[in-house]
Amino acid sequence: LVSRENTAERSVVRVAGVPIGGDHMTVIAGPCAVETPEQTLEAALMARRAGASLLRGGAYKPRTSPYAFQGLGEAGLKILSDVRDETGLPVVTEVVDASDVELVASYADMLQIGTRNMQNFALLQAAGEAGKPVLLKRGMSATIEEWLMAAEYIAQRGNLDIVLCERGIRTFEKATRNTLDISAVPVAQSLSHLPVIVDPSHSGGKRDLVLPLSRAAIAVGADGIIVDVHPAPETALCDGPQALTEADLDALAHLVDTLPALVGRT
Ligand code: PEP
Repeated sequence: LVSRENTAERSVVRVAGVPIGGDHMTVIAGPCAVETPEQTLEAALMARRAGASLLRGGAYKPRTSPYAFQGLGEAGLKILSDVRDETGLPVVTEVVDASDVELVASYADMLQIGTRNMQNFALLQAAGEAGKPVLLKRGMSATIEEWLMAAEYIAQRGNLDIVLCERGIRTFEKATRNTLDISAVPVAQSLSHLPVIVDPSHSGGKRDLVLPLSRAAIAVGADGIIVDVHPAPETALCDGPQALTEADLDALAHLVDTLPALVGRT
């Protein structure tokens, strides 16, 4: 269902009217985690300044440590929904458990499935039945074929509004959080008609790498990027070191204004 063998045309997925794929290079940005209404609104305004047309933010956080901040749950979803009303930015947010899909889908414009859940087949199937577009991150140890098969689980349930997200894979290299597999973008685009975006924040894990990796993603032909921003990263409850600050926004906006045109996108 997701293979290009059957559908030669590349797909465009619309998230509350915002296109991902085709001629567009879409920017999704926002805080890693929803912490407070003020922090989420400020991050959303930052996202808009950077050229984003969709807001990201986690209310359910799949943390490596059970002692780390796990997210605000439904209270976080309500904050996202209020911020959407205030800014007009549709919301992309993660769901980590099949039993939460209906609830998360009642607030979200797009469901995110994270790297740790890429092969949580019950979750994939539930997301496929939720009636909302799905952002499917690549498992950090998954091959491209396994990633596409995970997308197939969603598609099999009747939902072809799937966007693939390359977010870095596990390698021997420790200088970055994960290794951005930039070649996965054209490879996945050649095998599947689904749009493919890149997460330069979770792959590099460091603020200074976000702009260079974004440049690489756009240059290689990614259909979009998803970027962490935070008004005060030093106090962030999740992944502060990779969040862009106010000071970085103009550079990101400039990149998003100029680079896509050089590779034939708007
Ligand atoms: C995220 O985007 O909030 C996230 C947890 O990403 P990943 O699943 O890629 O680690």
